[in-house]
Amino acid sequence: MESIGALSKKLSDYLDPKKVKQVNKAYNFACEAHSGQFRSSGDPYVTHPIAVASILSSFRMDEDSLSAAMLHDVIEDTGIPKSVIEEKFNKEVAELVDGVSKLDKLSISSRNEAEAENLQKMVLAMSKDIRVIVVKLADRLHNMRTLLYLNREKQLKIARETLEIYAPIAHRIGMNNVYRELEDLAFKVIYPTRHERLTAAVKKNRGGQKRTLNKIQKELSKKLLDQGIPALVEGREKHIYSIYRKMKQRQRSFEEIMDVYAIKIIVDTPENCYRTLGHIHSLYKPVEGRFKDYIAIPKSNGYQSLHTGVVGLKGFPVEVQIKTQEMNDMAENGIASHWLYKSGNQSDTSPQIRARRWVAGLLEMRDKYESTEEFIESVKTDIFPDEIYVFTPQGKIIEMSGGSTAIDFAYAVHTDIGHHCRACRINRRLAPLSVPLESGQTVEILTEKVPQTSPAWLNFAVTPRARNSIRHYLSNLKTSEARKFGKKLLDQSLGNMGIKLRDIDKIELRKVLNNIGVRSLNRLLEEIGLGLRVGNIVAQQITGFLKGSHNVKEREVVPLEITGSEGLIVNYAVCCKPIPGDSVIGHFTAERGLVVHQERCKNILSVREDPQQCFPVNWGEPSGRSFNAQIKVVGKDEPGLLANLASVITSQETNIASIQTTEINTGMHEFVLDLEVSDRLHLSKILRKIRTLNSIVSVSRIHDWEMRQATALH
Ligand code: MN
Repeated sequence: MESIGALSKKLSDYLDPKKVKQVNKAYNFACEAHSGQFRSSGDPYVTHPIAVASILSSFRMDEDSLSAAMLHDVIEDTGIPKSVIEEKFNKEVAELVDGVSKLDKLSISSRNEAEAENLQKMVLAMSKDIRVIVVKLADRLHNMRTLLYLNREKQLKIARETLEIYAPIAHRIGMNNVYRELEDLAFKVIYPTRHERLTAAVKKNRGGQKRTLNKIQKELSKKLLDQGIPALVEGREKHIYSIYRKMKQRQRSFEEIMDVYAIKIIVDTPENCYRTLGHIHSLYKPVEGRFKDYIAIPKSNGYQSLHTGVVGLKGFPVEVQIKTQEMNDMAENGIASHWLYKSGNQSDTSPQIRARRWVAGLLEMRDKYESTEEFIESVKTDIFPDEIYVFTPQGKIIEMSGGSTAIDFAYAVHTDIGHHCRACRINRRLAPLSVPLESGQTVEILTEKVPQTSPAWLNFAVTPRARNSIRHYLSNLKTSEARKFGKKLLDQSLGNMGIKLRDIDKIELRKVLNNIGVRSLNRLLEEIGLGLRVGNIVAQQITGFLKGSHNVKEREVVPLEITGSEGLIVNYAVCCKPIPGDSVIGHFTAERGLVVHQERCKNILSVREDPQQCFPVNWGEPSGRSFNAQIKVVGKDEPGLLANLASVITSQETNIASIQTTEINTGMHEFVLDLEVSDRLHLSKILRKIRTLNSIVSVSRIHDWEMRQATALH
């Protein structure tokens, strides 16, 4: 068991003394918090966090990840709250520990493959900071290494979860060393006999081949040495579980799989990778169709290497991989290798930004060669999904768009459950139907025998499925019923704002109705009841009018104030992507509620003057949320262009949601980037920064991108 002294020494290889001190402090804190607690192995509990931190130090992870590793079981096991960790350390450490604790609470085991994949996505969705995953994987790795101390039932549960969820996640983010070890450890626990037999067979098989293999290895080494290429030639063993999986999935015999010997050659530069390939092909006969150039076209997880198959001595088939040391580290440690290489010049950038750059770097590798769509799909939705994943009480996973509420969930399960929904429990506690759900929660819908469908739900249902079902149901209401419903709802919404409908002066009310564009109060109430208008918005229109009415001429429309914090009932148009500071206009649609467009947006040109559909809105105080804006950048195709672009943008505290590139003519590229910005000022600052880059030809904001695409589609 590693001591804190030994670990500190290792850390001082790549961290400042001040940072090492923080990790030490975290260790002392963990010692105290876990004092008197023991592992099933009999060791003091703190040996576990220190082992986890030690695993992370081999990836040269930053001090906050290491501190989080020390503290990762403190919230769960000792009841010390997150706030104390934030106070004693910092917000990042507290968030990381909290993130890992949330994953610990998740009880995940699945019954089929599709579910396992959703569970993996759920875990990723819950860990917005990729370091949470890296810490969790190190935690799981140490637990798997020490699994023998638990009882059989627990062993099996943890091993299955590892095989189904955590090993594939490690694979997905390219941490292949961790991935292989997790799979082999889990395989050993679940099928001990198969594991034992296969291991013995591999050993025996390799023993028999040893001399031939050594010869091939020596011959290759000599050839490369003669050619002046510094190279490391090593045998590469497939991990046991991958052999087992191949035998099972592809129905191949053990001999068929084992008869192929794999070697890895590590050289100094990419150029030498290609030269090495040439020499190998001149030495042994290449097998047709086996050559793959993953250096020019990397795999979607960033993997780079040259692959080939040759027939070696005595007709012995050999698989060869050729890569540089950096490519090899990337292949083995994936996202974590990023810290390995970038830790030298980290002065001002947070690991989170660096992780994004890692992703941006991958994007760049990819987009030079083929459509980036598939790649963005795999990186963006896989590592930072927009969807949320929640459980039914039966453990089934429901996938919904981010921001969905319990009502959306109810309709997603079944329309009837939606209509009969009375209340809900989130993680076994009663909760309002309007609260946005988070990944990993278990949601239970309590139903009533008679339908409960209410126009009030339109105040917070966000998925089209729920909104359409609700409106469809409401459209069948009798006029009198709808009016009653609408009255109740409007009273409620106005009540929240301290106004009573019956207190409003008759003449004022008349003006309000004109202002909103409805002919009578009854009609307004009906429309609310039928779900054609949304109670909360009407209430805001009324109060907005009343507030401003004494200094407003009759017929003049009072703008509705928006801040971005209204929640889900105010939507921002995807066609023109308005951001605070833009001139905007509100368009009311029954399906989506209020949609805010830029005033210049062509999509609402035809309805702009219709007061029933459109009304003025103004930006209120900033709410701190971010808005999507799209920009177009044209630049000369120079190495590192996209990386520079990405780093200029991220240096402005901006997320890049997606990047598309097209070659417009030789040597010229057009990039379309989706950015998350706070307002116009923020955006113009970013645009200014981009213009200072050398190879940039033009930079502009896009106002109607979606429409261009939409027209192309229909
Ligand atoms: Mn742990």
